[in-house]
Amino acid sequence: MISKPFMMAMDLEGVLIPEIWIALAQKTGIEKLKLTTRDISDYDVLMKGRLEILDQHGLTLNDIQDVIGTLDPLPGAGDFLNWLRTQTQVVILSDTFYEFAMPLMKKLGYPTLFCHSLETDEKKRIVNYHLRITDGKKKAVKSFKELNYRVIAAGDSYNDTTMLGEADHGILFKPPQRVIDDFPQYPVFHEYADFKNHISGILASQ
Ligand SMILES: [Mg+2]
Repeated sequence: MISKPFMMAMDLEGVLIPEIWIALAQKTGIEKLKLTTRDISDYDVLMKGRLEILDQHGLTLNDIQDVIGTLDPLPGAGDFLNWLRTQTQVVILSDTFYEFAMPLMKKLGYPTLFCHSLETDEKKRIVNYHLRITDGKKKAVKSFKELNYRVIAAGDSYNDTTMLGEADHGILFKPPQRVIDDFPQYPVFHEYADFKNHISGILASQ
């Protein structure tokens, strides 16, 4: 009997590339952009606030893409992803926006990315954001399973935990300690080499 094929659902920020808002805050010197859902739990309030700050500083999407274009994937991420794509099908599931991610996706060889979108006006000011769907990571994993894949999912943070729970194999990669403490059921890896070994073991299982 031929078993169902595997596929891998990977988070993006914090596991393959830096956290974009944190990096933007560092590169622009705008401290308030460092706030995350840990500081402001209502995502809509947080995002509207971020867009207002960008506007106050006169930063257009083009300016921000220039800044993001100076960032690099995490050390080892490119090699890891290239290896992974020789082993199984890979889809990146992220809560970032296409317009922000693209300069970095170029450096990763444009893997398949499911995420959200920004709305700009004619002057390229970012005027709004659009979540493609709520809880999109979990829904994608659920859909892949319905397409008869066995899904391995990996991420680093709270916004990944519903997809890790939905997947056949959930893995925490480079998570902060509080995520490890809150979700002790998942194996944890901090280095690509160990992460690769674990994935290889799963892929070799029938
Ligand atoms: Mg992440």
